[in-house]
Amino acid sequence: MDAADTEVLRLRITEVFVSLQGEARDAGWPTVFIRLTGCPLRCSYCDTAYAFHGGEWRSIESLLAQTRAFGVRHVCVTGGEPLAQRRCLPLLERLCDAGFEVSLETSGAIDIAPVDTRVSRILDIKTPGSGEAARNLWQNLAQLTAHDQVKFVICDRADYDWAVDVLRREALDTRCTVWFSPSKGQLSERDLADWIVADRLPVRFQMQLHKLLWNDEPGR
Ligand code: SF4
Repeated sequence: MDAADTEVLRLRITEVFVSLQGEARDAGWPTVFIRLTGCPLRCSYCDTAYAFHGGEWRSIESLLAQTRAFGVRHVCVTGGEPLAQRRCLPLLERLCDAGFEVSLETSGAIDIAPVDTRVSRILDIKTPGSGEAARNLWQNLAQLTAHDQVKFVICDRADYDWAVDVLRREALDTRCTVWFSPSKGQLSERDLADWIVADRLPVRFQMQLHKLLWNDEPGR
């Protein structure tokens, strides 16, 4: 797909900004975030409800130009649920073509198979505590490669036990990096860290850097 094709393709965008990546394998890298508007889920702990509605229509070419102007190598396409807009797929492709290191944060409720394989897909598995576990599209797990990552946001001990069952049943740690993070304000970081160590769990613990640094302000 070239520039002439993507000039006319527009997506609903909530915000574009540069910050430090706060999560997963690229944590700490200066990163451009492209936040797409809209999400069909309503997780109990959602911290981006401001992206459910509104936004503005932007062409893929204008998003590429803005991204280039920031002068950083990493780009994270996020939401909302970015894959809820089908034009997210050509956006990802064009970002990869332009030479960026591209990651995609997705809820796990929409098919990831059509996503450009150069993209590192960060796939949530929604726990019961999220209120959206019924939305997990389990066939997505068969698509995972070592380039991808899986994330569980854990709300309480019952969520932890559920996540451990899924981890073991699906042998997730043999396919890709698996992250466990505590749901802020619901589960103490210390408790989750202690459980992981006690169980010698083959996962990586994470706390969200952007929340520690900027307390979750939009655009940071
Ligand atoms: S999938 Fe993400 S954006 Fe959508 S409701 Fe859940 S946490 Fe919020």
